[in-house]
Amino acid sequence: MINESMTASSQDLMKLEDKYGAHNYHPLPVVLSRGEGVFVWDVEGKKYYDFLSAYSAVNQGHCHPRIVNKMKEQAETLCLTSRAFYNDYLGKYEKYITEYFGFDKVLPMNTGAEGVETAIKICRKWGYEVKGIENGKAKIIVCGENFHGRTVTIISFSSDPDAKGHFGPYTPGFVSIEYDNLEALEAELKADAQNIAGFLVEPIQGEAGVYVPADDFLLKAADLCKKHNVLFIADEIQSGIARTGSLLAVCGNCSCENRCEQQATYAKPDILILGKALSGGAYPVSAVLANKEIMDVIQPGQHGSTYGGNPLACAVAMEAMKVVADENLAQNARKLGNIFRERMEVLVQKSDLATLVRGRGLLNAVVINDSPDSKTAWNICLELAENGLLAKPTHGNIIRFAPPLVMTEDQLHECCDIIEKTILGFSK
Ligand SMILES: *Cc1c(COP(=O)(O)O)cnc(C)c1O
Repeated sequence: MINESMTASSQDLMKLEDKYGAHNYHPLPVVLSRGEGVFVWDVEGKKYYDFLSAYSAVNQGHCHPRIVNKMKEQAETLCLTSRAFYNDYLGKYEKYITEYFGFDKVLPMNTGAEGVETAIKICRKWGYEVKGIENGKAKIIVCGENFHGRTVTIISFSSDPDAKGHFGPYTPGFVSIEYDNLEALEAELKADAQNIAGFLVEPIQGEAGVYVPADDFLLKAADLCKKHNVLFIADEIQSGIARTGSLLAVCGNCSCENRCEQQATYAKPDILILGKALSGGAYPVSAVLANKEIMDVIQPGQHGSTYGGNPLACAVAMEAMKVVADENLAQNARKLGNIFRERMEVLVQKSDLATLVRGRGLLNAVVINDSPDSKTAWNICLELAENGLLAKPTHGNIIRFAPPLVMTEDQLHECCDIIEKTILGFSK
């Protein structure tokens, strides 16, 4: 028998999860018990570079001391009041985050999926009350191979049979187009402009396998939306907060540290959804940002969350954003991302197994030369773990590489050495 205070082996702990937990994940067989910066350790004390960063929630690195201290301090002071009352952190946080990202208003939630649900609700309500769509007729355009979370409404417009199968009946009101296809977007907008309320898109499709759209896709999509009086909604839950080498992926290929309000490359969303690294991995915090004309469609009683906007979340998120700015994480992600892809290009030349590297900043993927349902990428990830680096396949034979953004150049080179050695030494 195992109780909480005993030290158990990885094997024992995996068995516990297997026996008592729902099997809704298929983890790599590694049991982690500690993290610091770019490193995590398993219960046997083996040290790994983390190249998943909890799906880009830990951009600031594991247990960032500033975020953890702020969290401790606030946890001892006040955690949760609910929104039945005001609290002394929420207003300050709202001012900070709206100025940081350049929007009038924010609606605070907890998880990413809730942020997406919130954006959908705001968009539909705007469609009826501002655009004048006939009640019940609003449509939102989405993209094939999207990942926006796990609620019934969100999986209703997923194209992944695992995510969607046997969870119906599905929520209507969504039309899907091919990702990165402006003609398809324009055709759909023209076909039913009066009923289309929004276009929901990931600026880079992370879960699908790190698909980066054409350079002009987001800007032109935003223009098309404006032309047809349709809200351009960016889900930056994974791509945002410095991950891709700019504060937001919608900033485009721009090297400035902040949001690129003044830049011609900035495809400004009407609604911006953030989550994951908004709290540096310390606590679930998500946020939906928009300007007044849009956000004001939501009135008291129409949407909310018991934990949304609680003082602990506000303290953690505000500190996490300050860390991103103070430590120049966008710049570091940009610099290291260029080095990573250069190194992987060399590997692709040398290896029959690695066929392609793509990505932006420190959100990258290497495509493995085997059928999507083979175990090759999984087995390479087992070998990478053996060699001290944790990464996970996404959608078949694609391995995503997304370390915390606090990595140094020397560390990155060491990691590239591990990846190179592993892939070159791998035989199926
Ligand atoms: C992770 C993710 C979500 C869902 O966030 P959860 O916190 O897991 O609900 C939504 N959209 C994108 C792009 C994501 O990467």
